[in-house]
Amino acid sequence: MLTVKPSSGMKRKDLEMMLQKVRGFPSPDAFLEQYQTPATIAADLLFSAYSQGDIAGRTVVDLGCGTGILGIGASLLGADEVIGVDVDEDAVSRAAENAESVGSEVDWVVCDVRTFQASADTVVMNPPFGAQKRHADRPFLEKAIETADVVYSLHLAGTEEFVARLITSTGSSYEVQKRYKFEIPHTFAFHTKAKAHVEVALFRIETQG
Ligand code: SAH
Repeated sequence: MLTVKPSSGMKRKDLEMMLQKVRGFPSPDAFLEQYQTPATIAADLLFSAYSQGDIAGRTVVDLGCGTGILGIGASLLGADEVIGVDVDEDAVSRAAENAESVGSEVDWVVCDVRTFQASADTVVMNPPFGAQKRHADRPFLEKAIETADVVYSLHLAGTEEFVARLITSTGSSYEVQKRYKFEIPHTFAFHTKAKAHVEVALFRIETQG
């Protein structure tokens, strides 16, 4: 059977340019690990998900959306419905402003991911990496797997084994599809260098549905 995928017609470069306009955290919180995904990485992640049929025409949830870059990008690529969830009200206000400024449509919810309830086709997320609080990404992975059929999630390369074990313990399968160097600018007092790079891995998870 021939399946026709819905298409946004947007090119990767155009998406990246739009996402460069997304403004960062008004007052980043170290404990919540508030680092915005760089536009190049966000665009690459989203385009990859899009080309696998997981964005256009789909219901997409962005868990720990921060200032909204992933949810906004999913909307620009033709997602049917997008919900962005974050515990930080200031970040979500910024996300709503960002969405409006690029003409995307996202529903924003302020709550802890643990209490969020919905079902979706796809989750896209860049959760806390667990640098401040060990395994802070655990509730995100659990919620994402419970919520969607397919999950795209960024994790610190050094935590890959933990992430993989958690995924397979739920009966889900995964593939590490990409690796990125993620630039962390000097944001918090405990940072000693002007900027640092961390290696991150993009997991694509297929859940039990
Ligand atoms: N996804 C965004 C932000 C990444 S930073 C981006 O890619 O740019 C991680 C985000 O997770 C922060 O916005 C932080 O406020 C949020 N967060 C941390 N713990 C959370 C929790 N328990 N529930 C909901 N959001 C949380």
